[in-house]
Amino acid sequence: MLERLILFDLDGTLIRSLNGFIAFNEAIYKTFGLSGDIRTVIPDGNTDPLILEDIFTAANLKVEITEEKWRAFAQNLYESYTDAIQRGLMRVFPLPGVLELVRKLAEVKGIYQGVVTGNLEKTGRLKLEAAGLGAYLGLGAYGSDSRNRNDLPGIAKERWAGVIGKPLPSRHCTIVGDTPKDLDAARKNHMRCLLVGSGRYAVEELGLLKPDACLPDFTDTKAVVEALLG
Ligand SMILES: [Mg+2]
Repeated sequence: MLERLILFDLDGTLIRSLNGFIAFNEAIYKTFGLSGDIRTVIPDGNTDPLILEDIFTAANLKVEITEEKWRAFAQNLYESYTDAIQRGLMRVFPLPGVLELVRKLAEVKGIYQGVVTGNLEKTGRLKLEAAGLGAYLGLGAYGSDSRNRNDLPGIAKERWAGVIGKPLPSRHCTIVGDTPKDLDAARKNHMRCLLVGSGRYAVEELGLLKPDACLPDFTDTKAVVEALLG
C-alpha cells in the first residue's frame, strides 16, 4: 500500500487569521511590560520564539528571554488568542479549498496528515480548532518543539512513525507550505515539498525556487491530490 505523510504549515497555507496581531502584541505587553509589534517584522515561515526575538531587535530593545519569561509568554499568548477568538475580535478561517482537501485526504487509505508549524503547540491547535480543522489535523511538530524550523519535519516524522508503528522513509513525506523557509526545511530533511501561493509569496515567485510542486491555491482539490501523490 502507498503510504504518504503530508505535513502542512498553518499560517498562509491552511489558515489565515484576522487581527491575530492584537493578541500577539497583548501577550508581549503582559509578559515583558513592553510595546512590541509583530507588524514590524516578517513572521512568515518563522517560529514564534524567533519572531519574538525579531520584534525586540526591530524595536532596538535588549530583552533577555529567560526560560521562565518564555513559559509566561506562551501562556499569555494562549490566553490572549482564546479571549480574542471568543470575543470575535480575532477570526481564524481556512483558506479556499482547504476543508475540501483535508476531507478528501482523510478518505484516502495510507495517507496521513500532520502539521509542521512555527506556532507553539497550544496556540497552533487553538487556531486549527477555530478554523474547523481540528478534527483532521493536530499531530506533528510545533515552534514549541524547536525554535529552528529545520528541526521540525524530523520531529513530526518520528511522532507519526510512533503512531503508525513503523518508520516512514523521508521520501514518502511531503512538506506543504507557503514560504521559501518551508522549502528549505523540506530539503534539509530530504522530503518532498509543495508550495502554495496563498500566503505572502506569489506562486510565480515560489515556482522559481523549483519545489516538487507549486500551486496558486487549493481550490482544485483533484489537482492538489495529484500533486501530493505524484
Ligand atoms: Mg506559513
